[in-house]
Amino acid sequence: MAAESLKAGPLAERIKQEVKTEIEEMVRTHDVRPGLAAVRVGDDPASAVYVGNKIKASEEVGIRSEHHALPESTTTAELLALIASLNSRDDVDGILTQLPLPPGVEERPIIEAIDPAKDVDGFHPVNVGNLGLGRPAFVPCTPAGIIELLEHNEVEIRGARACVVGRSQIVGRPMAQLLLQRDATVTICHSRTRDLASVTREADLLIVAIGRTGMIRGEHIKPGATVIDVGMNKVTDADQVRELFGPEAGKRLDVLSKRGYTLVGDVHPAEAAEVAGRLTPVPGGVGLLTVAMLMKNTLRAAKLRRKLLA
Ligand code: NAP
Repeated sequence: MAAESLKAGPLAERIKQEVKTEIEEMVRTHDVRPGLAAVRVGDDPASAVYVGNKIKASEEVGIRSEHHALPESTTTAELLALIASLNSRDDVDGILTQLPLPPGVEERPIIEAIDPAKDVDGFHPVNVGNLGLGRPAFVPCTPAGIIELLEHNEVEIRGARACVVGRSQIVGRPMAQLLLQRDATVTICHSRTRDLASVTREADLLIVAIGRTGMIRGEHIKPGATVIDVGMNKVTDADQVRELFGPEAGKRLDVLSKRGYTLVGDVHPAEAAEVAGRLTPVPGGVGLLTVAMLMKNTLRAAKLRRKLLA
């Protein structure tokens, strides 16, 4: 039987609508509008699209946004100076620096320079540490969105065997922390894991964030498991599309011929659909929630900074 598709669109819209309603209330009662500053360095086209989506979502929910697009030649010192000025401004509640930064800019000092109270991406060591300690923290948007999706669909986390494939700071590690906080028994896999399939096949809840097109096959999945596919990979080859989607390849081949690529996750869609109980689609899955959670984090930052949280 084909896996149920865990589409995230309606939930992402609902989260944004809730944020919008709260912001309208904030403006009405406190005359305060949350502000988000997005910083992008260089000409990476994917980064430009991601920042564009974040700015668009901000406009939709009523967050005042500003986009600082800096040239590739920007130095670490120049970027630090911008971050310092954004930190000092009262009208800026959230600061995000789109990663990856170009080779000429050091990532770590930039992340560490952002005021933890404005760190809506949740990458600052203070927030990472607080998450690890189980204290209130800004949580990275992608894993936070996945928790919302699981809870919304009443997927049982407590006591479940959860496996996270990937240990990045952005997805894998915070994901594992959030699952552990909710009483899952968590295993983290990575590129050095031996016999990956034997580990992933134990999982009731399999979360995959590796950046390898369709790498997780039917043999990696426990029958009936819930599979969350975080990967977003561009596929440009028609034969690969046919192999990945089997009889369902038609629509994807149309997309490929129109756009020159189609987005595919880290999970093999045709094989996973045969084995999993529930599966997130790509696109239309986790990615939509990431932006919605950024809006939620920005609202929370504004409330905390302005002491508007009960
Ligand atoms: P990343 O920083 O490159 O980390 C990839 C992780 O996968 C690493 O921990 C790596 O292990 C592990 N890995 C690589 N090859 C592996 C293999 N053959 N077997 C097992 N593990 C392997 O990637 P990321 O930033 O977490 O992103 C992962 C994917 O999610 C990408 O496709 C990215 O585009 C996507 N993504 C999507 C969203 C969204 O909103 N939908 C957000 C963020 C990321 P090692 O640590 O041992 O190297």
